[in-house]
Amino acid sequence: MQKLFLKKKISPRVENGHPWIFANELQFTPELANLEPGSIIEVYNGWGKFVGRGYTNPKSQIAIRLLTRNVQEQIDSGFFLRKLQQAWQYRQHIGYIENCRLVFGEADYLPALIVDKFNDYFVLQTLAYGMDVWKPAVVEALNTIFKPKGIYERNDVPVRELEGLPQIKGFLSDPFDTNIIINENGLRFHVDIENGQKTGYFLDQQDNRRAIEHIVKGADVLEAFCYTGTFSIHAGAYGAKTVLGLDISETAVAQAMRNAELNDLQNICRFEATNAFDTLKTWAKEGRQYDVVILDPPAFTKSRENIQKAITGYKEINLRGMKLVKPGGFLVTASCTNLVHPPLFLEIIGMAAKDAKRRLRQVTYQTQASDHPIVWGLENTEYLKFLIVEVQ
Ligand code: SAH
Repeated sequence: MQKLFLKKKISPRVENGHPWIFANELQFTPELANLEPGSIIEVYNGWGKFVGRGYTNPKSQIAIRLLTRNVQEQIDSGFFLRKLQQAWQYRQHIGYIENCRLVFGEADYLPALIVDKFNDYFVLQTLAYGMDVWKPAVVEALNTIFKPKGIYERNDVPVRELEGLPQIKGFLSDPFDTNIIINENGLRFHVDIENGQKTGYFLDQQDNRRAIEHIVKGADVLEAFCYTGTFSIHAGAYGAKTVLGLDISETAVAQAMRNAELNDLQNICRFEATNAFDTLKTWAKEGRQYDVVILDPPAFTKSRENIQKAITGYKEINLRGMKLVKPGGFLVTASCTNLVHPPLFLEIIGMAAKDAKRRLRQVTYQTQASDHPIVWGLENTEYLKFLIVEVQ
């Protein structure tokens, strides 16, 4: 097995737990460029001590991602079975059984692997070359542990191209009807595993959806960026008077309407396909007012270089949203990119409030559901910010 050595300066970061190693963090090894993408290599620190075993991709900026730090542990199909069993035990232990993110990449020490469990169905993504080669082992482990009704891969993700991988999607089990229904917080939702966004459903907000229970009672609620209407339908079920959900995607809005019907809330929840930026601006000018405004916009940027774009986007949309909240009403606002850290997100909301000349009183600040664990020291595992404020 090829041995690679870290530069002395880099060794502590990796030894303290970070699984990623960039090519320029390694001592010069001419063999690196010729290694097969996906091959397993051994990493040693700058003084020759064993650090871990992982997979490499000389074509990627991230040359190595570590899988184990145990010198005894070999990387084989048994390794993946053990890791998936551990991930499942952890989810059960913290109370996520029916639907959960079963594997959250680096946070489960399985870099670049995502597995979402929708009851008996599983959706997976292998986002690096070295993880993609183990897809059969992951599928075998899922079959052994769960005997699933179906497994689907949603590898139609641009980031795979940075790894030299094609964008693909399809069955990893016998074909099945990819329009499924899941239960969440006592409600039911259609999930389109094949054509929905990401893996079909945003499990990371499952606890946050419950957080709106008390503030929406008897309220007129506006939700922008509603996707398949999950927050809106929770609002309806929690006793809102009226709910209007907006999303730019016609398919998302159609699914949201089906979800309202599925929960017998079609008389309370309405949905419209529209650009929320324009619509919120117009409605604020017209003086429309709501008791509760909910915003869960997309990431706005995927790269640190474009961070200003994300800041401007979040500030603008929150400013427009806040203007639509009645004095004493509530703004529910989220941000799903790890590039905007929690303090920056709160600062952006503060700037929007200043411009809107409104005072905020914080009700709740949360992050993603705990089935997406945050590993301390692994910054990008903490990504979702979720805030409820009273807008005075
Ligand atoms: N809150 C949802 C997830 C929202 S994801 C849930 O928990 O399920 C962000 C959504 O914003 C996507 O559905 C996307 O279609 C939508 N979107 C992106 N740009 C938009 C825009 N300019 N106006 C309205 N919706 C937009």
